[in-house]
Amino acid sequence: MRHIAIVGSGPAGFYTAEAALKALGDAVRIDIIDQLPTPYGLIRAGVAPDHQSIKAVARRYEAVGTDRRVRFVGGVEVGRDVGIAELCSLYHDVVLATGAPQDRTLGIEGDDLPGVIGSSAFVGWYNGHPSCRDLAPPLDCRAVAIVGNGNVAIDCARILAKTVAELRESDIVNHALDPLGRSAVEKIHILGRRGPYQASFTLKEVGELGELLRATPAVRPQDFPPEEADSGLETGQRRVVATLRRFAAAGPDPEKPVTIALDFFRRPVRVLGTDRVTAIELAVTALDDRGQVVDTGERLVLPVGMVITAIGYRTNAMPDVPFDEASGRLRNDGGCIAPGLWCVGWARRGPTGTIGTNRTDGYALVERLVATAANGDRPGASALDRLLHARSVQPACFEDWKRIDAAEVARARPGAPREKIVAPDEFRRVVVQKG
Ligand code: NAP
Repeated sequence: MRHIAIVGSGPAGFYTAEAALKALGDAVRIDIIDQLPTPYGLIRAGVAPDHQSIKAVARRYEAVGTDRRVRFVGGVEVGRDVGIAELCSLYHDVVLATGAPQDRTLGIEGDDLPGVIGSSAFVGWYNGHPSCRDLAPPLDCRAVAIVGNGNVAIDCARILAKTVAELRESDIVNHALDPLGRSAVEKIHILGRRGPYQASFTLKEVGELGELLRATPAVRPQDFPPEEADSGLETGQRRVVATLRRFAAAGPDPEKPVTIALDFFRRPVRVLGTDRVTAIELAVTALDDRGQVVDTGERLVLPVGMVITAIGYRTNAMPDVPFDEASGRLRNDGGCIAPGLWCVGWARRGPTGTIGTNRTDGYALVERLVATAANGDRPGASALDRLLHARSVQPACFEDWKRIDAAEVARARPGAPREKIVAPDEFRRVVVQKG
């Protein structure tokens, strides 16, 4: 029997488990360990609440979670409740699928002022991640800057821009929906340090900016290269640019009170304010021949009451695991950290790609893992249970999650799929009620 522990129950963790079940059949037992009592990681706490079709992939993970060869071990924090070295002594393979939950920071003056918020925290807040529930973003301001030209920046802008009616049937948590409904924000600047050709948006996400009830996109026509050059772009990017050009040609809809300005060629150099953000100073940029940013020397000051940084993520460093500071990832060779210790998904390759990229990643890792002889005897699940019991840690199992799931569905707003539980004592209450 091969005993595998997967740390992290997001897409990379579940695809790795699915692949291991297929590859090893009845000769494998898998524990999927998560610090939260709820599984699915980024699907639950990262994917936008108004993108329910993407969240539907959780049904596929549920088939894995309910497989008799798999256990969900929730509410167990690796590094606190059990160490990596301990896990390696209990399982033949330990796979770190811990994602990249830390925001990269701008590294400029003022980036620690109250009102500068990382997208991980902001997304976690509206998605009901327990660690972000007290964020209280300052929604009393008229203008907000979102730094970054990726899909996370668009997600944040869209959630800020939507009406309560547009969000009501999503699974946004009430603790975010209520303040968003009272928000004073009417100008949202999405700041890109490069131009439309270099933006990392995808078509669906950009297109949605043109379909909002009370918000309208604003793009400056002068930010585009000559249209003939678009033919040299890869198809996906060409379509994104075509949509941006359409927004620029149409101009903002004067009937709509909220503007989402896609401000290209603007690099933050300083966040201004004394006890909270009042403005952001921007360098006007241009591109050199290689598409790299150059500073034109011109400066602008944009008055804003909140800055959301959506400039990428870093993996959490863990004791006993080599870490590459520069890239913010676990140091690994094609997923192998050390014999029997692996990583997969964003923890392996960084925060790139779609949910499906993690499927490819998980299957590739398992191919490598099964081709490697398992080291020695390992006791697996029963030994972990003994160790956790001795430390008074009571893990949540998959049935506990199903109980939480049912409680969340039962208390949903009309039309919404669920109202997430976010408070630790509430999780405990639901889980303790087991029969
Ligand atoms: P991303 O796509 O890598 O975008 C990060 C952006 O931040 C880039 O525009 C980058 O500009 C900019 N940036 C980095 N450092 C900066 C700095 N110091 N100053 C100013 N700008 C800076 O990352 P993401 O938006 O966090 O998304 C992560 C992954 O999740 C992506 O693969 C994304 O597609 C995916 N995702 C998908 C969806 C969806 O499909 N609906 C939703 C959310 C996220 P440069 O290009 O100039 O470096």
